[in-house]
Amino acid sequence: MNNTSTPLSRRVHSLLGSAGALLLMSLAASTVSTVSAADSTLHLNLRSRTATARGDVSITEKPVAWEAKQTALIICDMWDDHWCKSASRRVGELAGPLNEVVKQARARGVFIIHAPSSVTGFYKDTPQRRLAQSAPLVKTPVPLATAERWGTAWCWPDAKREKVLPIDDSDMGCSCTGAKCVIREAWTRQIATIELAPGDALTDNGQETWNLLAARGITNVILCGVHLNMCVLGRPFAIRQQVYLGRNVALLRDLTDTMYNPERPPGVDHFTGTDLVVAHVERHWCPSFTSTDLTGKPAFKFKEDQRSR
Ligand SMILES: [Zn+2]
Repeated sequence: MNNTSTPLSRRVHSLLGSAGALLLMSLAASTVSTVSAADSTLHLNLRSRTATARGDVSITEKPVAWEAKQTALIICDMWDDHWCKSASRRVGELAGPLNEVVKQARARGVFIIHAPSSVTGFYKDTPQRRLAQSAPLVKTPVPLATAERWGTAWCWPDAKREKVLPIDDSDMGCSCTGAKCVIREAWTRQIATIELAPGDALTDNGQETWNLLAARGITNVILCGVHLNMCVLGRPFAIRQQVYLGRNVALLRDLTDTMYNPERPPGVDHFTGTDLVVAHVERHWCPSFTSTDLTGKPAFKFKEDQRSR
């Protein structure tokens, strides 16, 4: 070995090292992000929409880092059954993947609130229900909604912030073909697929939700579950109320669904209807992200959604 080979070999190694690092970086960029279960900081890509001076809407995606300990994940109305057979089938399909995301979020330190509206009585005396009921009362920065709908307080559409929803759900949105489902009280509890763990809370009440958040210094609130055009916006723990309370709110947009009948305006397929409501939320209420940011795995997609992405 001569004296000049060493620096050269070092240079070659250094070059290979840089190339290797570049290759790894491009691989990381080309696949979904790497997420560690031990990572207590959530790295989310929050998508939102704003009106431009030209009158159209621009879409922006902003990376944020949220501390898991300052973040709650609220699961809205993932009931065991629904009066609409199609809606019930979709919740059944969504529940398993949603539970996997919840498990990973919980493992990283996110506070989980189960919010199966109007059936919290099923959970009387469970540790999760008691945790919500025993949280010390904390005054909210703005008054909570007092209107009532479907068994809880309700935040109606807000003319100051939003126009009418982009889908017509005035028929309540049964998406079944042929005979339409009859509206009835079909639900008795949260679907059993979603696990209640020690340290989780369960409530459908706005004040109890606020007490839980306040006790933990939680400033970030993530919403998932159903149905986006109704309860995920209107319930007293859900998007509109959390925005009014000044939380940083975000929607898990692949872990939701709507009540939308494609026979009604604007006459698009059910899943395009859901995407339109997601866009409405991003424009008027809060940004959204997909579960990929929490799990590193591909976003959830319903089997019946035949559109390419
Ligand atoms: Zn139906």
